[in-house]
Amino acid sequence: MKLLEDRIRKDGIIGEGNVLKVDSFLNHQMDIALIDELAAEFHRLFKDCGVTKILTIEASGIGIACLTAKYFGVPMVFAKKSKTKNIAGDIYTAKVESFTHGTVYDVMVSKKFLNSSDKVLIIDDFLANGQALLGLTKIVKDAGAATVGCGIVIEKAFQDGGKIIREQGIRVESLARIKEMSVQNGAVFCD
Ligand code: 5GP
Repeated sequence: MKLLEDRIRKDGIIGEGNVLKVDSFLNHQMDIALIDELAAEFHRLFKDCGVTKILTIEASGIGIACLTAKYFGVPMVFAKKSKTKNIAGDIYTAKVESFTHGTVYDVMVSKKFLNSSDKVLIIDDFLANGQALLGLTKIVKDAGAATVGCGIVIEKAFQDGGKIIREQGIRVESLARIKEMSVQNGAVFCD
């Protein structure tokens, strides 16, 4: 998506450890007009899939998922991160290794909010090693629901996540795919 690629070129900051900072427009300060365009694009891509729920993971996916859910006219559910080892209650859980922090944490979704008739579109800001998506797709599977696809704002295509998720037969649509990036040369996008 050209609008997004241009914005990443203009305002994205490439840091150490293959981390792209987009906190001036996507995941700290949020440019709602831009994110609304991203949400409209997710809707265009998945509108014929019978989506009944949007699922994301806290915190940075929430804003994007909210606007996307509005286009689909369905609820948005976000998986909560929990530091407690023994999570109580009627919940689905998965372990996720954080790309940005290098730690493992549990994510959980109440069983009340996902059921076997749901067709779920998973939304997230980044796809790197695919750990967040693997956790979310496991939760959907545990609920007996179907993942209709994953809508990603920025895929770092030089990391393995996209390959891992697509090899599972899951449709992944990324609005910007970065082929390579470096502090010297900036981000280069896939065709
Ligand atoms: P994965 O689980 O695919 O390895 O990483 C996805 C998660 O890590 C995303 O939810 C996102 O929050 C975070 N993440 C991964 N790469 C980046 C990055 O380059 N920049 C930022 N800001 N977050 C990232």
